Amino acid sequence: MTFMCRLLIVDDDPTIRLLVSSGLKRKGYEVFQAADAEQALVVFRDHSPDLALIDVTMPGRNGFELVQSIRRGEAGLACQQVPLLMLTGSDDVTSINQAFESGATDFITKPINLPLLAERIKYALRGAQREKALRDTQLEQASACKLARLGFWQLNFTDDHLSWSAGAHDVLQWPALPESGEQLLTLLSPKDRLRLQASLSDAEASGEGINLEVTVGSGVLARKLRLQSGGKSEDNHLIGAFQDVTALRAFEDKAIYLAEYDELTNLPKRRLFLNLLDEQINSAPESPWMMLTLDVSRLHRINDVLGIQAGDQVLTLFAQRLKQSTPESALVCRLEADTFGVAVPQTSAKEIGVHYEDWIRPLARHYVVSNSEVFVDFTAGGSLYPQDGHNGEELLRTALLAQRFSRYQAVAQRLVLFDEVDVYADEEVLSLETDLRKALARDEFFLVYQPQQRLSSGGFDGVEALLRWRHPERGVVSPAQFIPLLEESGMIVEVGDWVIKEACRQLAEWQHEGLDLCMGVNLSALQFEQPGLAKQIAEHVADHKLKPYHLELEITESTAMSNPSATLAILHELKGLGFRLAIDDFGTGHSSYEYLLRFPLNTLKIDRSFITGVADSRPSRAIVRSLTALSQGLGLKTIAEGVETQRQRDYLDALDVDEIQGFLLARPMEPSACLAFLCTTANAALHEGMC
Ligand code: C2E
Ligand code: CA
Ligand code: CA
Repeated sequence: MTFMCRLLIVDDDPTIRLLVSSGLKRKGYEVFQAADAEQALVVFRDHSPDLALIDVTMPGRNGFELVQSIRRGEAGLACQQVPLLMLTGSDDVTSINQAFESGATDFITKPINLPLLAERIKYALRGAQREKALRDTQLEQASACKLARLGFWQLNFTDDHLSWSAGAHDVLQWPALPESGEQLLTLLSPKDRLRLQASLSDAEASGEGINLEVTVGSGVLARKLRLQSGGKSEDNHLIGAFQDVTALRAFEDKAIYLAEYDELTNLPKRRLFLNLLDEQINSAPESPWMMLTLDVSRLHRINDVLGIQAGDQVLTLFAQRLKQSTPESALVCRLEADTFGVAVPQTSAKEIGVHYEDWIRPLARHYVVSNSEVFVDFTAGGSLYPQDGHNGEELLRTALLAQRFSRYQAVAQRLVLFDEVDVYADEEVLSLETDLRKALARDEFFLVYQPQQRLSSGGFDGVEALLRWRHPERGVVSPAQFIPLLEESGMIVEVGDWVIKEACRQLAEWQHEGLDLCMGVNLSALQFEQPGLAKQIAEHVADHKLKPYHLELEITESTAMSNPSATLAILHELKGLGFRLAIDDFGTGHSSYEYLLRFPLNTLKIDRSFITGVADSRPSRAIVRSLTALSQGLGLKTIAEGVETQRQRDYLDALDVDEIQGFLLARPMEPSACLAFLCTTANAALHEGMC
């Protein structure tokens, strides 16, 4: 112990101080001196000595009082445990006792024997060091136990007394710790109580340890404790450790939940869904099931226009509705971002139709998110167990195939079942998609035109441009087949732009020949959302020296209503540039008349489905009548689409429709045929001398 330990000698006798300090300095110690208790406390604070020698009798506070002050922490916490040796008279037993009572570590008798003093100091320092190491370890252990939420307990089998380690209270935070085995058992659920009782009896009888997890207490005080012990000791004690695993288990549960459930909608994810379905199928293989997949349409549009949060809200609402409307026995899950899966026990094919009407169809509706009304549409595919798949995975695959098919066929909201799907259709779709990518560059697109006739005069003042694709092998493909593909792949934006350019070119050519026409052009939803749309159309119009009012831009009712407030802004921009605007396929759904009143439209095109029935069905007539009235009330032109018979035409005339378009007059025609038609028919009708 010859390294530079710091010692303090406190004595009012300068000779002793000098003697002791010079003797100890020679032994290699650094020595401070103090003449009384006050000075000593200053040295303690400034130099934190490793040991102090303290005389008993001093003026002011005596040695005992100084020792007590130091032990109380008056000289700082760091010095509280420092070894303190008292200098007492050799036969002064009272002082020696008092010294220990005050908290001294040891005593040295006067007169001082220097070599002996040096030895005693050495041992005192060593002892202090060992004690410190022990204290540190205990502290470390206590804080490690606290961190690991660990503690110890001891159960006496003889009297059932239960004791806990010092830190147990800190870890468990209970108002009181149970003091007997019996008391602990009363804090458990009946099931856990039986388990712990059995474990303890076993430990008492067999001498084996226990190892189990139980929940102790209830409500906010409930703790999940892992209890472990060694075997019973000879004196009939069981000593063990406990760990509070409440937070750990909660975290694990959350992790499992997140892996299995979708956080946004709280619905099971795909894996759990399929496992649950497989369990059900395995437990009753004879019972039939129906699997449905529902794909929310154009979620990206909502995300783009109203923000991701609005998109999330739509999905949450959709999921809620789906969950509410499905039978209780159904399993519902979120398969992917915008796709949901539903498995329903089903007893007859007839039920499928009932399911569809009752709870699938009503899911297509308006939702209000971020103060905007959005119409949420979807496509659905279905498959049946056992015929379309033997387990969840197979059923899902076939249902998704059916859903894909329904999308490509543009039969939104209609449930397509797998057995209705031509298996090759999917491959065909793929190959069509590949060819479609090349079609624009290969000049395979062309436009046909369908005239619109004014009923009052019989004159033709408009045509609608309709897109066609001349496939090198398949011949002319109908837009119903390829427009959904163009939309899905985003190619519609480029192709749509080509349509506008080509329609403008054709119109300019016809104008040159003396025809005064308005050209209807269809805009797809995706195209309609493009930020530079208005400017781009204006450029095409200007390039061909046309006036904007020569173009009538048609958007479908569902495009318009999928986000009415965004639609309103775009329509105003287009209207501001002078374009005519028409709402297409009107009556098929979801119009909120409040918006319709605000849209700056010119024309309302009544959907073909109402025209088909107009001659034979009263309800169709009533609808056409009210649509015409609405249109007139708003100062719009009404066009009836898909007029095929003279009877229909007569009814439409009587119902005050302004114009008609349909096979009765002409199919959509290539430009030369259309020109010829317009010249001859128009001539015959009214426009004498025009061509
Ligand atoms: P749409 O805009 O409602 O066009 C009218 C559709 O009705 C055309 O089908 C037309 O051929 C058909 N049609 C006209 N008269 C009759 C009739 O008397 N009876 C029957 N059964 N049908 C009739 P088409 O040309 O097959 O086009 C289908 C749809 O494809 C269009 O419906 C439109 O939504 C879309 N489409 C066509 N061309 C374009 C285009 O250039 N761009 C975009 N975005 N969509 C287009
Ligand atoms: Ca149209
Ligand atoms: Ca239409």
